[in-house]
Amino acid sequence: MGLTEIDLHKELKKYFGFSQFKGLQEDVITSIVNGHDTFVVMPTGGGKSLCYQLPALIQDGTAIVVSPLIALMKNQVDAIRSISSEYGIAHVLNSSLNKTEVNQVKADIDSGVCKLLYVAPESLTKEDYVDFLKHQTISFLAVDEAHCISEWGHDFRPEYRNLRHILQRIGDNIPVIGLTATATPKVQEDILKNLGITDANTFKASFNRPNLYYEVRPKTKNVDADIIRFVKKNDGKSGIIYCLSRKKVEELAQTLQVNGIKAVPYHAGLDAKTRSRHQDMFLMEDIDVVVATIAFGMGIDKPDVRFVIHHDIPKSIESYYQETGRAGRDGGEGHCLAFYSYKDIEKLEKFMSGKPVAEQEIGHALLQEVVAFAETSISRRKFILHYFGEEFDSETGEGADMDDNVQNPKNQHEAKDDLEL
Ligand code: ADP
Ligand code: MG
Repeated sequence: MGLTEIDLHKELKKYFGFSQFKGLQEDVITSIVNGHDTFVVMPTGGGKSLCYQLPALIQDGTAIVVSPLIALMKNQVDAIRSISSEYGIAHVLNSSLNKTEVNQVKADIDSGVCKLLYVAPESLTKEDYVDFLKHQTISFLAVDEAHCISEWGHDFRPEYRNLRHILQRIGDNIPVIGLTATATPKVQEDILKNLGITDANTFKASFNRPNLYYEVRPKTKNVDADIIRFVKKNDGKSGIIYCLSRKKVEELAQTLQVNGIKAVPYHAGLDAKTRSRHQDMFLMEDIDVVVATIAFGMGIDKPDVRFVIHHDIPKSIESYYQETGRAGRDGGEGHCLAFYSYKDIEKLEKFMSGKPVAEQEIGHALLQEVVAFAETSISRRKFILHYFGEEFDSETGEGADMDDNVQNPKNQHEAKDDLEL
């Protein structure tokens, strides 16, 4: 389909009801519709899904969307089903489907009504699926959360490494779209190399989130009480509290409940039903707070999360940025509060000690950046954006005054002393 024949604004309105594109969406979509390999780096909430959903809906054939989590695929398929069933449908192909369901999916691809096929990368390796898809019209392959391909990313998935090879088996000249919210130059290089897209059209949005307030406090033995005080002050607002271990998640959720806060735990040790019930309770606002491990949040689209607390400091700046990025997606207030103690860094170092040396080295380098961030006395926003290769003017940049270091300047030495508690 040539671009001259379509009015993208009209299509946007028709399928999604929006009257304007967000940020770089229109340029990205133009690139995809023209059949170019395309690489999109946009922060969380930037509207990456629509970048491939709209082209998929308006083009012939089926777009394959690789996505790392079933919950995430389900979210998106539900959303597509609610807006555009008359124009085409979306399916998920994964190991939970029975034979009849798989046949239905195949029939809908074959007849051309299935516009978006969401798959986990491990499903794509199944001979049966590859053989089937080989004979279908595939509009493009979108690799969402493409940083999963890189060991330097915060969520490495070995299965992502096979994608290029599988794609070659499905067909020649299928355009590839990589999308990620991880902006570090290293991860981006890895993605392009592994997907084999050397001459991609690349679109990179700014990672500044001017409405987020960044704060790091020393972590003492009273950290739970500090958290309770903070949550009570923000009564009725939605928030996420991240902890490192499942055990701590359970404990803290209970402590909050005992203190009259509507909170539930979320971690990978809970069964799927409980997890999705707790997720729904949060989305429906039956509860205010989810206490979670990193298992929670990827792709969760709740626009009015008002705070993200890190009970434990994350293992990289990317993780910190991703997790805090779930606050204030609607542009409203978003308070990001992290508790930091060097002891936690030592703990994280220790966790890694059993891993292969190369992995340890990466992990150590990432952690050193976290230490530098936690202990810095410069603008936290400037620090984060610099990490992502972006210049930020901490005098005049958007959101310049939105962090603890800017509001209460203190010298580096004092800041360090605080942390020995
Ligand atoms: P990302 O994957 O980049 O984190 P999403 O694709 O989940 O972001 O989109 C974030 C939010 O932005 C969603 O609620 C989506 O409906 C909304 N959105 C996307 N594009 C537009 C648009 N053009 N106008 C208004 N809202 C949009
Ligand atoms: Mg997304």
